[in-house]
Amino acid sequence: MREQAAILDGTATAKTIRQEVAAEVKLLAASGARVPHLAAVLIGDDPASHTYVGMKQKACSWVGMQSSIHRLPATCSQDEAVKLVQSLNNNEEVTGILVQHPLPSHLHEPAILDCVSPNKDVDGISRSSLGGLINGEPAFASCTPAGIIELLDRYNIAIQGKRAVVIGRSIILGKPVAMMLLNRNATVNICHSRTADLAAEVSRADIVVAAVGRPELITGEMIKPGAVVVDAGYNRVEGRSKDVGDVEFESASERASWITPVPGGVGPMTIAMLLRNTLRAAQGRF
Ligand code: NAP
Repeated sequence: MREQAAILDGTATAKTIRQEVAAEVKLLAASGARVPHLAAVLIGDDPASHTYVGMKQKACSWVGMQSSIHRLPATCSQDEAVKLVQSLNNNEEVTGILVQHPLPSHLHEPAILDCVSPNKDVDGISRSSLGGLINGEPAFASCTPAGIIELLDRYNIAIQGKRAVVIGRSIILGKPVAMMLLNRNATVNICHSRTADLAAEVSRADIVVAAVGRPELITGEMIKPGAVVVDAGYNRVEGRSKDVGDVEFESASERASWITPVPGGVGPMTIAMLLRNTLRAAQGRF
């Protein structure tokens, strides 16, 4: 039997990045420069959004950054949301802005995200920042995709010249991670719900990025022996005590050379990238 895949440990890697960010924040503070300040816009009562914003605030405090939450009711108008974002753009104390999504359905989310100044868009999902990624212009990288690339880099996993498959084409995850892999000279194939033969597409890939939201859709038998498997999925399954990814971990581990666990893989990297972007925003670096 093949050896089990080695683990791409997102928890440990994210901790290292947080320590690096904390050290730089300390230096900024010691030099009398502005300490990074992340302002989160929280609209409505979605419990998951409240939890995520709470986690991000806690992470900010861990690295010595300031943070604040700016709330609007679920019934707020587009105009009120836009005005709030604009006031944060104009607030010199605030160095990074995060609009927690999803927004209530009556709001036009892309238009609100687009109001965030590019130099404060630390979540990297405005159309301007995504356009920067495509055009190779300075822009903050969207956090989960950037976390995936960073995790590969920290384990010295080569991307250039590799055949990569990304399963999922969402604007926050599948498309930007595919573009980042392309920018790093991988040959990239993007799969989605209408892909004719998913197993065949996955089986050709040296790097598999699952970004679907379907529990254990990708099974070990689809994986090319020795491939690197990154599972961004996070799915709650009734009757299972633990959340599961989009990849069937046990069977995939028997074929892959490297694999991310769920939890403890991509998830922790997202917040680490948010902190790093917020630091860079305060430093005036894209
Ligand atoms: P999404 O917007 O729902 O997109 C899912 C994508 O998967 C779509 O492009 C869809 O194709 C594709 N898809 C659905 N069923 C498929 C199938 N049977 N075969 C192939 N492709 C299929 O989801 P998302 O926001 O990108 O999130 C994806 C997963 O990542 C979720 O589990 C989410 O929880 C997780 N996530 C994790 C983090 C994190 O770790 N920090 C951050 C964001 C998301 P179509 O385009 O054809 O519909």
